[in-house]
Amino acid sequence: MSRLNELLQQAGNIGRNEDDSITRLGFSEKYFQALEFLKGRMQELGMQVETDPVGNLHGVLQGSDPEAKSIVIGSHMDTVMQGGVYDGMLGVTGALEVAARLKDEGRTLRHPLEIWGFNMEESSILGGTFGSRCVTGMLDPDIPGYAEKLAKFGCSPEKAKAAKRDISKYECYLEYHIEQGDKLDHTGIDVGVVSGIVSIIDYKVTAKGMSNHAGTTMMANRKDALVGMAKLIVAAEERARELNDTLVFTVGKIAVSPGQENVIPGQAVANFEMRHMDKAVTDQFYADIQAFAKEIPNCEFEFVNTSAKYSTPCDPRLIKLIDDVCTEKGISHIIMPSGAGHDANSMAHEGVPIGMIFVPSVKGISHQGDEYTKPEHIDLGADVLYQTVLKLDENGF
Ligand SMILES: [Zn+2]
Repeated sequence: MSRLNELLQQAGNIGRNEDDSITRLGFSEKYFQALEFLKGRMQELGMQVETDPVGNLHGVLQGSDPEAKSIVIGSHMDTVMQGGVYDGMLGVTGALEVAARLKDEGRTLRHPLEIWGFNMEESSILGGTFGSRCVTGMLDPDIPGYAEKLAKFGCSPEKAKAAKRDISKYECYLEYHIEQGDKLDHTGIDVGVVSGIVSIIDYKVTAKGMSNHAGTTMMANRKDALVGMAKLIVAAEERARELNDTLVFTVGKIAVSPGQENVIPGQAVANFEMRHMDKAVTDQFYADIQAFAKEIPNCEFEFVNTSAKYSTPCDPRLIKLIDDVCTEKGISHIIMPSGAGHDANSMAHEGVPIGMIFVPSVKGISHQGDEYTKPEHIDLGADVLYQTVLKLDENGF
């Protein structure tokens, strides 16, 4: 087993459950156990290390040029409830492998190399990407009610503010992550060069019909809101398949009222979620859904936009640099969007150029115990990360 695979298994197994999944929630005892373990490794590599006020791990390997901005690599150390070994932890241990290889080869970079292991990237009452949003100052801890939520984790608005860094000193941010989807595994391609993180747009869709007796109302006279909603979902699902091959559409939540066995549903409310890189595609898709709704008989539809997180593009120069590294090494790769959010969002949101590297998730499984990435892919992606850092250090971007 390679050094990186060994480290990943050691750190990634902290929080193992009886069913073999991993639970290492942000701010938990297991989380801090993993943090201390990785802190020790960073110190062995000669890094200056600290735990910041919100439980992020931060390490710096000094560079030779005091004027140079930092090359930053990061990811998260928390997992979801009953998650896997690889999500997040791959990026932190992969960054440590970069530092370890520099040491092996006796190289000192011109730029400082900073490594972040972020706290609570996974969704929680604090909102996703908590640790990285504190670091970039994207998080506003003074919004009403937030202090009480922070207190549940022994944290406070003061600590959240104290965690903010001067990110104008960051040259760029790189994140190495498992794909968490099935595109790479399905196509047999080894590396994904991430073009950006997709938009996530949510609509609350209400179908209105009429409640009535399930026994006495003949089929010809019904206004069944659930049937109308079902027709709309099927039409939207078919359209999503045709419109664009990276558009995804999900109805993960639906409520029917009055919700009784012997009453025709008078109302159905569903959440329509769509994800894509390109706003033109999600706009078109939404317009098509509205047009379908007008054609559905015996039902009126109402649409309310409840959330719109617009896409975050990766820096084109970093995309090219990672693409060049793969081409030079003869590694099969594609440029692809990320369907999931990442800590890189927080950096990009505050103006730091970001680049991301993906390796295949077997069968596209993530956020559960069966999450798996082959050891050879772990090492391959880390090599791409290492070569990218060397190129950045030598030639900039
Ligand atoms: Zn992750």
